[in-house]
Amino acid sequence: MKAVRGTRDLLPPETALWNHIEATARAVFARYNFGEIRTPVFEDTGLYARGVGEETDIVSKEMYTWEDRARAQSEKAQSLTLRPENTAGVVRAYIEHKLGETGQLQKLYYMGPQFRRERPQKGRYRQFSQIGAEVIGPVSAGSESPLRDAEVLEMLATLLDELGITGWTLEINSVGSAADRVRYNEALRAALAPVAPQLCEDCQRRAVTNPLRVLDCKVPADQAIIETLPRIADSLDEDSLAHFAAVTTALDAAQVPYTRNHRLVRGLDYYTRTTFEFTHNGLGAQNALLGGGRYDGLSEAIGGPKAPGIGFAMGEDRLVLTLLAQESATKQVLADAYIAPLGDARDAAALARVNAAGLALARELRHTGLYIELGDGSFRLKKSFETADKTARAIVILGEDEIKSGILTVKTFSTGVQTKVPRAELATFLAE
Ligand code: AMP
Repeated sequence: MKAVRGTRDLLPPETALWNHIEATARAVFARYNFGEIRTPVFEDTGLYARGVGEETDIVSKEMYTWEDRARAQSEKAQSLTLRPENTAGVVRAYIEHKLGETGQLQKLYYMGPQFRRERPQKGRYRQFSQIGAEVIGPVSAGSESPLRDAEVLEMLATLLDELGITGWTLEINSVGSAADRVRYNEALRAALAPVAPQLCEDCQRRAVTNPLRVLDCKVPADQAIIETLPRIADSLDEDSLAHFAAVTTALDAAQVPYTRNHRLVRGLDYYTRTTFEFTHNGLGAQNALLGGGRYDGLSEAIGGPKAPGIGFAMGEDRLVLTLLAQESATKQVLADAYIAPLGDARDAAALARVNAAGLALARELRHTGLYIELGDGSFRLKKSFETADKTARAIVILGEDEIKSGILTVKTFSTGVQTKVPRAELATFLAE
């Protein structure tokens, strides 16, 4: 049996890097006063159809959807979907738990697996992990303020810096209000009509169903034509322009570097106004580290109250790839000591005695906070030394003599020095 295509096992020592990323993210989010939310891994399919958008790639072709078994014959089977992203689930929870009624801004972060049936390649998987956050609330709580957008972007710059990711780029754009989008879609449709036949098959379809998506096209032959299409900036009304200007002014003040990308519209339908992406050139074709934006109409689209918000999702798999490429820390973590009980494999009672003493000593040392690897009394001394050398910084020999005398032999691998240490001083010796 093998892991299913597009899914992976994560093994040590790489999992240490995953834990490091998650711990750093939690620490940074806490400093910005975010709390964690955990939503279910599957939801009613309708949530994504309405919340993400029927015409998006995600909903139209990438979701893992199934009919749940009906409980009674009279009941209709419910269509369920493994979450392809987490924002819709968070907003569903916001509505369900009436979080808007607190009158406060909700600042929520999440981390966990997401599922999309994409064509697997490096940096793109069918089960992948996102770390994301949302700032959402009633208008009276300031949820529409451009300061929230700028603060989220500044937090992301801080997080990437603290993770040690160097050389990231922030691209931002405004896709305007819902009304701006209607105007722009019309302009785009009109401009696309005469040129669409020269574009790729996907774009010909998008030109009719969802013209904004044409801007996302990566097909080289299409680029020259796409560059001549109208820009969304020209369709923004005064409020949207002022909102975007306020975001960039705040970013300038905080000295967060960014570039404007007129074609950044993102793959999810719910975005309004600010959209952004952080990319890294070390990632190859799948160069997006994270993406996000404002979604002022999402709550209403899924049946909730007006609750503007802004959020992002980072691809944890891609953060790991970036850090690995920067040759940072996936060295194996060595234990402080390897305890080698020394027995006689042919004498079961003696073997049991040294092994039991080994467990007792390991417990004592681990309780002091030391990292301990415990061997086995049936190993020959040579094998114990070889194993210890690979897994720990020192070896502690524990035979019948040592148990009786209370004096243990410790060899430190980095210096090659062998020392006799009284048991009572062992923890301090190893810690030093
Ligand atoms: P999205 O939810 O599409 O806005 O994606 C946000 C981020 O999640 C992207 O910038 C990627 O870093 C990551 N991501 C999206 N899809 C995948 C995937 N199939 N495999 C790995 N990472 C992904």
